[in-house]
Amino acid sequence: MSIPAEPSTPVASDFIREQVQRDQQLGTYGGRVQTRFPPEPNGYLHIGHAKSICLNFGVAAEFGGICRLRMDDTNPETEDEDFVTGIEQDVRWLGFEPGETLYASDYFETIYRWAERLITEGLAYVDDQDAETISAQRGGFTEPGTDSPYRTRTVEENLDLFRRMRAGEYPDGTRVLRAKIDMTDPNPQLRDPVIYRIRHAHHHRTGDRWCVYPNYDWAHGQSDAIEGTTHSVCTLEFDSHRPLYDWFLERLGELGELPRPLAERPRQYEFARLQLTHTVLSKRKLLHLVTNGLVDGWDDPRMPTLRGLRRLGYPAAALRAFCAHIGVAKVNSIHEIELLESFVRDELNRISERRMVVLNPIKVVIENYPEGQVEWLEAVNNPEDPAAGTRQVPFSRELWLEAEDFMEVPAPKFYRLSPGKEVRLRYAYFIKCESVVKDASGAVAELRCTYDPATFGGQAPDGRKVKTTLHWVSAAHAVQGEARHYNRLFTEAHPDAQEGRDPLEFLNPEARVIVTGARFEPSLAEAQPFQHIQFERLGYYCADPELAGVFHRTVGLRDDWAKIRKRQG
Ligand code: ATP
Ligand code: MG
Repeated sequence: MSIPAEPSTPVASDFIREQVQRDQQLGTYGGRVQTRFPPEPNGYLHIGHAKSICLNFGVAAEFGGICRLRMDDTNPETEDEDFVTGIEQDVRWLGFEPGETLYASDYFETIYRWAERLITEGLAYVDDQDAETISAQRGGFTEPGTDSPYRTRTVEENLDLFRRMRAGEYPDGTRVLRAKIDMTDPNPQLRDPVIYRIRHAHHHRTGDRWCVYPNYDWAHGQSDAIEGTTHSVCTLEFDSHRPLYDWFLERLGELGELPRPLAERPRQYEFARLQLTHTVLSKRKLLHLVTNGLVDGWDDPRMPTLRGLRRLGYPAAALRAFCAHIGVAKVNSIHEIELLESFVRDELNRISERRMVVLNPIKVVIENYPEGQVEWLEAVNNPEDPAAGTRQVPFSRELWLEAEDFMEVPAPKFYRLSPGKEVRLRYAYFIKCESVVKDASGAVAELRCTYDPATFGGQAPDGRKVKTTLHWVSAAHAVQGEARHYNRLFTEAHPDAQEGRDPLEFLNPEARVIVTGARFEPSLAEAQPFQHIQFERLGYYCADPELAGVFHRTVGLRDDWAKIRKRQG
């Protein structure tokens, strides 16, 4: 079962959806549509996977089909049960219901039996050469490959050797099973690909039952066929594997091994993988960041993983809207991270309650405000959403203001607070700076102000205007906390594409900046884990699920994407 993506994010058609439609019209699969999302549980999902999830679950939902979540768990050394659980959580968080998880490892017996069938049909052989020799014999794009000396082994000998491989008689790397196709095929993928290798390794699900494991090409299409997948969607780099995908399924179909008629076998379609500026989208590289302590974990808000982005405060709906917007194409392209952020900002603007927080506080004393008096002012939670209601914010004689909102000698066009100038305090009054108090070093330590009681609510009865409205927090009521700000994880826009350089060279040491000593309005003491909040005038923040009083800045308020678009013309 899968649930549809937001009705508010309509998905344009694309070549995959057109193909599904064509198959529906032709009746290729008797009206069935079945897709799958097949991660390898060797890491947590990143935003690239979100594109594939939205596509596969989206297509299934739109065409009344189903999408299955399948673990492609054929590499025992790198895979792990925790990743399986994490992947399931991430798919659900993104807004899709995967139902019961399927596993390629559940098909190991069938896939093994099919391999024996290839052998008995003379379509596979055991090769005793090492990986290097096999690779050298593969040839290149311009020269054909050369036959292995083991290519002419008899069926009996191959079957015996393969069974002994399975029985554990040989050490890792000493033998492989290869499909017998054509060493001169123009597509190197078809030059007798390796389909089984020996790995004496513990598998997170099958334990020590197996010491031979199928390769991707001899597991993926087979799993698709067993499950009844109709449209097997993968990324572009697999397009040279498609003839192999077809070759295997056609042979198995002709041999009567497939659960459905050959005409209804799954077919592979390739789309461009998501690439984003200023980050890397590869589980291997992300794993490196985690294992080397370059980030705090897979859910570090600096990470482009779904759990990292969630902790940073990205709403799942924004990711879905972004994926719907960029669409699905057959050419690789790199998207600006600012475009993604603009979707996040739009969604957060809709759903975030507003609060007042002072990040870099300077004390203000309102000299003519009665000592001990507190007024609870009504503040709007979200001007975009009347249903979000209002809250009470305390106002008193001593307040915190943002230090940046004051200049003793104002620069040109500085319309905020300075001696003799008047500003509006949000939801409260006009205040005027009368004098400053300096500390021993001569730095401004405190502002002495007066307020005009007649300006309650932000309007002066005599019609005089102020240029600026500032946010503030009542000192006596403030709660202290921490804001964490983020810069790009990589300083280079394309860290992966720097000739001869390791992307890690461009890892930004300033990717996280911790701001301590922030003063929050008291209602923030009750912030819920993952709650999205706009700190007025500062940005969109998200309450950390574990660290009390810590808020991550999800995105700033300014739309950098609009700027980039203008520059690009
Ligand atoms: P990685 O290089 O990050 O390990 P992968 O392709 O090896 O990526 P899998 O777990 O095998 O990771 O991927 C599961 C599915 O997600 C595959 O169908 C794959 O094509 C798709 N996918 C992975 N990365 C992206 C991406 N950047 N954009 C779109 N789809 C992706
Ligand atoms: Mg993979």
